[in-house]
Amino acid sequence: MNILIVEDEKRLSEALAQIMKEQKYTVDVVDNGDDGYDYAVSGQYDIIILDVMLPGKNGLEISRQLRREGLEAPILMLTARDEISDKVTGLDCGADDYMTKPFDTNELLARVRALTRRRGAVDLEEISYGDLILSLDTYDLRCGTKVIHLSFKEFEIMRILMSNPKVYIAKEDLICKVWGALSDAEDNNVEAYISFLRKKLSFLNSKAVISTQRKVGYRIEENAVA
Ligand code: CA
Repeated sequence: MNILIVEDEKRLSEALAQIMKEQKYTVDVVDNGDDGYDYAVSGQYDIIILDVMLPGKNGLEISRQLRREGLEAPILMLTARDEISDKVTGLDCGADDYMTKPFDTNELLARVRALTRRRGAVDLEEISYGDLILSLDTYDLRCGTKVIHLSFKEFEIMRILMSNPKVYIAKEDLICKVWGALSDAEDNNVEAYISFLRKKLSFLNSKAVISTQRKVGYRIEENAVA
């Protein structure tokens, strides 16, 4: 698989290229937007990893122009800013996914795999609980007609909770499964992600809620009618 990395932060692009090569991907790296566009439009890449802020054309312009040219390769946008508006703009410009720097390289690889799998995928795998459907391919969480995209860690937590309905999952277990046994993630990392997920569930108007049992853990359950 051929990957194009368009990134002007040399240390980041070198690290990314190294990781991709270890996964047996073929990688080209360019450090400015004009070369990025020229390489990408050649059509020889299976996925394009595109920084937003670049010398020359920026990532949003490149993405828009590539789509205008009919290029269909998935584009994963890297943004240094954690602003929803940037993400929305990136996706409006034809990007398929985005990641906010700094990011976890395992997460990046998972996104790359998901994006390349999605092309020509016949049936998307999903799990459901109550009125919720979670796509294991796109990390989208659906409730009725509403859809919201989950970040990788949100997705992992949701997948664990939805796969074990009504069972309390301890914070330590979530840290171990989502962040890794050797990570230095702490309880408040989990709490922060649970709070993101609760906001997303309420955005979706789902009947499902994530409840907390002190000193026991979290579980997903249907909201009792008040
Ligand atoms: Ca940059």
